Order: sequence, then C-alpha cells, then structure tokens
Amino acid sequence: METLFIVCPDCFLEKKIREQYGGKHFFLTALGIVFERDISNELLYLIRYEGIKKIYIVSSSCCSFIQKNINHRMDSTLKVDSVLSELKKGIQDQLLKIREINEKASLVALKNIYRLGYEITENDMLRNNLRRFNIELIGLILNKNNEPIQEINLSAILVRLKRNDNP
Ligand SMILES: [Zn+2]
Repeated sequence: METLFIVCPDCFLEKKIREQYGGKHFFLTALGIVFERDISNELLYLIRYEGIKKIYIVSSSCCSFIQKNINHRMDSTLKVDSVLSELKKGIQDQLLKIREINEKASLVALKNIYRLGYEITENDMLRNNLRRFNIELIGLILNKNNEPIQEINLSAILVRLKRNDNP
C-alpha cells in the first residue's frame, strides 16, 4: 500500500516516519505544511497513477515555525508565518487557557493539520477522487522527543460533502 506523508522539510521527521511506517512512501513538503501553491494536481496524480491509499498530514509541536509563532517572533514575510498567525488568532481563547508552551504548540500543530485537511478537501475534483478511491486522510502529530505518536482520523472532514457530489 502506497502512503503519502505531507511534512515540513525543516522538521526532519522523515527518518522517524520511515522507522514507524513500513512500505513505500511518498513525501510532499512545505514549510510548516503551508503550501505556497495549489497542490491538488499533484495529489490527483499521486492518487490516480501512484496508487496512494493513505495521506498523512504530519505536524509537530517541535516545528520551528510553530514555536516561533507561539513565541511571537514573527519577523518574516513568509506565507507560513502569516497563515500560522491567522490560525493562532482564531484559537486565541483556547491558547490563553493553556500554560505550557509545548501544549500550546501541540494545539497549533493539530489545528494546522485540520487547516490543511480542509484546504485539500475544498477542491471538488480532489475531494471526489479521495472518496472514489477510498483514500484515508489521517493527521499525525509527531514530536521529536519520545512522546507517543498521535494519529487523528480526518475522515470527518470528507463527510462535510455536498449532497450533489458524485459518489
Ligand atoms: Zn517544521
């Protein structure tokens, strides 16, 4: 079974992923898993011609972009920084209730996974193909220390489909 992992290239999680998940893997990378471009055509290609059956959206509380965002050190004009600070604004109330920096970072990592999940499923053709080929969409929180790996079933995102979608 072919599996695609969407990862941040700055997190260096590929080795850990290879250790944890056997089989043949594909990797798509974007800083802080925020894509500058539309990746729907690449994903469609991978699903149709490479037989991808599972897509993991991977994030980590250790991600330097998330850590920087939590610590208010936003000095760049990178898209990843603006997207993450928007995301943080949206969950400000939840973040205020958390004391631990790493717990805050974990929450941002989780929300970032959902954000990309929604971005992917917003494309009609891609969403239809995810359903037609029974592709599993899974979130993965992978921290560099020995915290347990957390898998999140993102299928619910696919359920928010319009009724007139082709089966
Ligand atoms: Zn990162």
